Amino acid sequence: MPMLFDLLDISANGKYAKVVINDTSLVFPTLLTLTSTKENDINWLLGDSGKTLSINLPPSSLTQEVSNKKTTIQFVANILMHEPLQVSFVLNNLQKTTALIADRLKIVPPENALVMLQPNINPEILDAVTKTITKYKIRHVGITNFTPLLNTPRKALEFILRLRQLLPLDTLLYLFSPVPHTVVPILSYCGVDAFNSGYVWLATKSGLYLTAAGALPLTQLSEKICSCKICADLPISDLQKALLENNAAGLDEHNMLIYQAKVREVRYALKQKDLRSYVEQNLFDTFTATALRLLDSSWTDMLISRTATWLSTPIYHLTPLSYYRPAVQAFQRRVRERFDILPYKKIVVIFPCSARKPYSFSKSHRKFLEVINSLPKDKQAYIQQLILTSPLGVIPRELELVYPAAHYDIPVTGLWSEEEKAIAVQQLTSVLLKARKQKPIVIAHVSDEYLTLCQEAEQKLKTTFVYTAAGSKPTAFQALANLKKTLLAKIADSPPHQYNKDLEFVRALSDYQFGLGIGEKLFPEPVTLKQKPNQNIFLFKGKNRIGVIHHRTGQLMLTVPMGMALAKQKKYYLKLHGEELKGSTIFAVGVFEADPEIRPSDGVVILNEKDELLGVGVASLSGSDMVSMSSGRAAKVKTKVKSLTKAHSG
Ligand SMILES: [Zn+2]
Repeated sequence: MPMLFDLLDISANGKYAKVVINDTSLVFPTLLTLTSTKENDINWLLGDSGKTLSINLPPSSLTQEVSNKKTTIQFVANILMHEPLQVSFVLNNLQKTTALIADRLKIVPPENALVMLQPNINPEILDAVTKTITKYKIRHVGITNFTPLLNTPRKALEFILRLRQLLPLDTLLYLFSPVPHTVVPILSYCGVDAFNSGYVWLATKSGLYLTAAGALPLTQLSEKICSCKICADLPISDLQKALLENNAAGLDEHNMLIYQAKVREVRYALKQKDLRSYVEQNLFDTFTATALRLLDSSWTDMLISRTATWLSTPIYHLTPLSYYRPAVQAFQRRVRERFDILPYKKIVVIFPCSARKPYSFSKSHRKFLEVINSLPKDKQAYIQQLILTSPLGVIPRELELVYPAAHYDIPVTGLWSEEEKAIAVQQLTSVLLKARKQKPIVIAHVSDEYLTLCQEAEQKLKTTFVYTAAGSKPTAFQALANLKKTLLAKIADSPPHQYNKDLEFVRALSDYQFGLGIGEKLFPEPVTLKQKPNQNIFLFKGKNRIGVIHHRTGQLMLTVPMGMALAKQKKYYLKLHGEELKGSTIFAVGVFEADPEIRPSDGVVILNEKDELLGVGVASLSGSDMVSMSSGRAAKVKTKVKSLTKAHSG
């Protein structure tokens, strides 16, 4: 039977690790070797060949890149900081440990160095410890004494996330303490990179048969659950009999397969850039559920800053926990902060959402748009359309292609929970408040639950909406006729107003991407849009193609002229040392300043020290991570500025 191990203590002389196996202490040389095995799994081996401990290593959950080259990681020091040690003791001791680290780093390259530490959420301690790790550019951090924290999710989360916040993103976090496979997804989502497979042996020793969702007592099973090679070959009674005879061979292999499958699934989700969905599918224990709630409510800014703005994959809102996904909260925030109801809009029409996305492609919205388009051309400019939905709240028509507005899916029952209602009403009132000055007429072309929501918003805003579909379906002939009649009456006395629908669209999109008012700077003159079904949207100025909007994500891609305008506004920029761009990758080590608003996948402008535009690209990291990290890719270059036409943006 493989060893049952728990790494309890690593001696501070740096040469040996003391590992406690059952009741026996063993001392290992502290050479840690990263090797990749045949199955494309990466195992972390500790010790010499005879007494090796193996630890599963998924690629970094945030950088998503791990070298397959054989790397030797060397333990350099144990930073003694576990509770309930006194702050003064820890800080005093840290000085001694720092001297040791400095000494060890004379022979160990910092990118191969590993320090151990223990959970402690005291801000003073965390600050001092992470500063030391950052100062010496140590890239590997091992955590021991973590398992008891599974009983206190708030503390566990705070510890891991504070480390993730204070340490550069390219620091790898290794969880030495064994944890159940069911918490691997949520801990990866928090930023843990490597897991100790020791839980397999703990579970096996306790006679537990692991499944994807948890652990079952083997003795109580009456039929096979799994059909892995072990389970297929051995009847369950044989496994049970072997266990009674204290022989867990078979059970341990099955359990290891289940644990490895979980780690592989996490890796797959990371490659798909959607670990969040996988975490929601893994709500098998209270730790995960509690941690996810806490993450969404107390760590929103950090989560959002490291969550991609632009994706093309669908989002499934299956549980109330999905309402607070960072992508959803980020969208709501940008709509509140970066969308404006233009001053000449006299009417706001509220429509219900549709299951089909983007909305304009749905049967119901085609009917709504038919009504709008049938109005006199020179009066349509007065109308702002808003779409009411859960859980995003309110989607301005101009932003219906933007991720995740065109990508979400939610079970449609016609019933809204109190939580969904509250979110939608809050978002609707804050968007309508933008037009407080011009006091537009609000027409709610909605029925059923949507109507209740509008009435709540009406009360909150202390205004009166006009209802054009009450008592029937918004798509009913009578309701549509009523909408048209009402709209015509409201705009009848208004003078003609020029309407460039495409310009409004592209400006609203630019504002959403780069900040309120940026649309006017990027597009001072009218543009037209052209799109064939299921293809990118092209922007034209006269006959010249001047840009493209990605149809799957809804993102406006930056061009050099747009980049120049953006650079002048000091928005979404990153700054590099050097005169020109070499290659198509910008590495974090070269970035010395970046707009903290940048999130992964956002379009960015690349500047040199003199604020000259070198090119435009797409961010791979958040602005602050680009600056703090010393390795890894910060951005992909899309277009370079030819040196002769380099523009000064100052
Ligand atoms: Zn099995």
